Amino acid sequence: MIFASEEERHREMFDVLRAVGRADLSVGRLYEGHVNAMALFDWYGTAGQHSWLCQELRTGAFYGVWATEPLPGVHLNCDGEGRLCLEGSKTFASGAGGLAHCVITVQGHESERRMVVVRANEAARADLSQWRVRGMRASVSGCYDVTGLEPDPAALLGGPGDYDRDPRFTTGAWRFTAVQLGGIEALLTETRTAMSQTAREDPLQRAKFAHSVAATRTAYLWVRECALRAARNDPDGPAFARMTRGIVERAALDVMELAARIVGTRSAMDGQRIDKIIRDLSLYLRQAGPDYARDQAAIAWLERDAWGDGDGLW
Ligand SMILES: Cc1cc2nc3c(=O)[nH]c(=O)nc-3n(C[C@H](O)[C@H](O)[C@H](O)COP(=O)(O)OP(=O)(O)OC[C@H]3O[C@@H](n4cnc5c(N)ncnc54)[C@H](O)[C@@H]3O)c2cc1C
Repeated sequence: MIFASEEERHREMFDVLRAVGRADLSVGRLYEGHVNAMALFDWYGTAGQHSWLCQELRTGAFYGVWATEPLPGVHLNCDGEGRLCLEGSKTFASGAGGLAHCVITVQGHESERRMVVVRANEAARADLSQWRVRGMRASVSGCYDVTGLEPDPAALLGGPGDYDRDPRFTTGAWRFTAVQLGGIEALLTETRTAMSQTAREDPLQRAKFAHSVAATRTAYLWVRECALRAARNDPDGPAFARMTRGIVERAALDVMELAARIVGTRSAMDGQRIDKIIRDLSLYLRQAGPDYARDQAAIAWLERDAWGDGDGLW
């Protein structure tokens, strides 16, 4: 598809991520990882890496991004003959053992971490024994041991510090919040369908439904705006994305609570879609450092109104 502008492309991707999240949050998590990997190749890949990527994609290869790791992390070592070797493992590695390749973060001899593309489909390296969770099971976010893998220098993507480079890195939260938003929207739709006639005739239940609609659409407006800011490489994007994370989390928590109160016990029954969405969403909401993100947003907003486009409140 040809897009007239980067904003148009982001707007389209925002809708796609929501749609996938609406269908299934685990699939959404995997798809978001693939989209993130494609963006990293786009920003930091060489011409040779782009042509390799195209060949792989033609064969149906699916990618992910694994940054989370237990201490002491993943190290990129170099022996006396210049051969590269990895040591360590990744946790919360969505698609562990099933994806073709992953962009992983590693610590080399430089102070900033960097990216390496590794094979991710070796079942023997994946450990799913700890992935015993009440939701998001199908995202297969287990551990993946990369110890002993010897990446070719051509597998180094970008340079030290590129993965964490802002505003792209932090504003990139717009992608997972778009998937989460899809889950919230699906929950709202299911709640409406499951709402009994008695509940629909009760103003108290209708007030809960109205609150759910407002929370969902508020989250929509923030995430859409955040996606557009990412397209523009807006320097206020990181503050905006950090605030957006909290808005989406609050909306999801409210809509989950209200769905249970509107629909009653059926919302918790095995086999009910509402139950599955709530289990998935409540886990998928747990992203890194939510309190820190909100606090950083507050610090930025105290300085200037990060929403303002030349018309800030202060
Ligand atoms: C389904 C799923 C799939 C995932 N897939 C991937 C993936 O493919 N790739 C990947 O890289 N990651 C993935 N992740 C990991 C994700 O990006 C987060 O790193 C992870 O979910 C954070 O987990 P946590 O809430 O336990 O950790 P933390 O961020 O450690 O938070 C735990 C608690 O500690 C608090 N806390 C944390 N740090 C501090 C601090 N410094 N000071 C005070 N309080 C603090 C937080 O506020 C929070 O309340 C996935 C996570 C999930 C749930």
